[in-house]
Amino acid sequence: MAKQIQAVRGMNDCLPGTTQVWQKVEDILRKTVASYGYQEIRFPIVESTDLFKRSIGEVTDIVEKEMYTFEDRSGDSLTLRPEGTAVCVRAGNQNGLLYNQEQRFWYMGPMFRHERPQKGRYRQFHQFGVETFGIASADIDAEIILLTARLWETFGISQYVRLEINSLGSNEARAQYRDALVAFLESHIEQLDEDSKRRMHSNPLRVLDSKNPDVQAVLEQAPKLSEHLDDESQAHFKNLCERLDAAGVEYQVNDSLVRGLDYYNRTVFEWVTDSLGAQGTVCAGGRYDGLVEQLGGKATPGVGFAMGLERLVLMLQELECVGDIRRNADVYVATMGDEASIQAPVIAEQLRNEVSGLRVMVHAGGGNFKKQLKRADKSDAVVALIFGEEELAQGTVTVKYLREQKEQVTVSFDEVKILLQALTV
Ligand code: ATP
Ligand code: MG
Repeated sequence: MAKQIQAVRGMNDCLPGTTQVWQKVEDILRKTVASYGYQEIRFPIVESTDLFKRSIGEVTDIVEKEMYTFEDRSGDSLTLRPEGTAVCVRAGNQNGLLYNQEQRFWYMGPMFRHERPQKGRYRQFHQFGVETFGIASADIDAEIILLTARLWETFGISQYVRLEINSLGSNEARAQYRDALVAFLESHIEQLDEDSKRRMHSNPLRVLDSKNPDVQAVLEQAPKLSEHLDDESQAHFKNLCERLDAAGVEYQVNDSLVRGLDYYNRTVFEWVTDSLGAQGTVCAGGRYDGLVEQLGGKATPGVGFAMGLERLVLMLQELECVGDIRRNADVYVATMGDEASIQAPVIAEQLRNEVSGLRVMVHAGGGNFKKQLKRADKSDAVVALIFGEEELAQGTVTVKYLREQKEQVTVSFDEVKILLQALTV
């Protein structure tokens, strides 16, 4: 036998059984954003490498070590998108959708990062994201957070996630803070680990993110970002908090929440869970008022978030919050005799026309009646519709119940439609 080819490490197939869960999740996501008036935007999976270098930042985990970058046949450096925000801004700029306008967009699709695969962390994963443009005030920050809170509510997992928020202030305030932080870190350099020492100069705010408890102990004494916030950012943050309070959305202010991408300013937030082990962030976002200009557009404020769909699906499965999944087939059509096997698919088409939403599976592949009923049993269907010579001659059909102890009945065509209507809910 020829050697089987395997999928690329960290890139997973999604199989029937699980695809139903994904469809359900995607459906709820689409309906929820639609209920806020957001519009879908779609963009390519491959972009110029420069786009991500210039937006996410050269000294970030993503750009330093996670991107799938390659040269195409024309010698251009391309990258499989590691995230959506930069791409959305590129698309918005290029199509004239941003300047002097207000936009509320959403997108969904695969992202690629060369990370060490583990539970909740993959090399091809999927994000659902929202990006809004042209609104500088905190009402829109609050709106997108409310939208996420509504999603947890709809998925039935509100009690398993918590919201952390912080403000990074203006770029100037952040630069000032960076200096103060570097000075502090330098004076404690002997207590830092290698990772933190390396980040101390390249991207010092990321040191705050350190998972090392020894480093975290040192950081307790470090200057706080909140002490360096400019007045406007402070007012913006206060306003956001007031709005979350008014809406009854609980949150914790986390002083060391800085996010791993360079483009954020002011609001940053994460929804975290303890239900997924180490990969606890399900959704993360923030404000990026400088990004549009940085990517060549005219200055336009923006704020958005991205949600990891694998992590969300894992949570729903582990917490048993998936709920009902629509069965694959309601009806399995079996036949007796050659003429019936030719007519059955034609009748099935009529049933699909007349009973909206009905899922009709017609036996294919031949075989005797017993074999057909075995297939019917193996399918999801709750009834088998049986067509034989007699039924054909009389315009009737025999209904056999597959999942309950009920006598089979032979009914007219009109009657069967009424009977099947009940199965589509
Ligand atoms: P992490 O700290 O877990 O690496 P991140 O800060 O790199 O996350 P973002 O770039 O903010 O993540 O992406 C938003 C969301 O996308 C994350 O909160 C997470 O749910 C999901 N995500 C990010 N990277 C992966 C991955 N490799 N596999 C699966 N989901 C991911
Ligand atoms: Mg990451």
